[in-house]
Amino acid sequence: MDCIFCKIVSGEIPSAKVYEDDTVVAFNDLEPQAPVHVLIIPKTHITSMADINEENSGVVAHIFEVAAIIAKEKGLDDGFRVVSNCGDSAGQSVKHLHFHLMGGRTFGWPAG
Ligand code: AMP
Repeated sequence: MDCIFCKIVSGEIPSAKVYEDDTVVAFNDLEPQAPVHVLIIPKTHITSMADINEENSGVVAHIFEVAAIIAKEKGLDDGFRVVSNCGDSAGQSVKHLHFHLMGGRTFGWPAG
């Protein structure tokens, strides 16, 4: 499958990894939108949030544990944001499930 995030998992494409274990990888976003902007992804290919089900949701719970670990490590004590864009209208440009962990600045809502 021609998926850039699967290639990051396999090491075929380099990335600045900040965390890795048996089931997830986290690495710095290539075009950071905040002082801290990390992408946390499952190692197995799941296309988007729309494909989460009772068989694969365990890795999503784990991703949120990892988000808390990374946020602590990065000193995001004032707060942070976790976002997953799902589908074209939400602006999902990479079709491998990923969660943006962003912090180090103030965010607007619902965008920005
Ligand atoms: P989204 O638009 O929500 O699908 O997010 C995809 C994110 O992946 C964007 O923020 C991109 O900057 C980021 N991205 C794309 N290719 C790479 C890469 N090779 N390494 C790190 N981040 C990437």
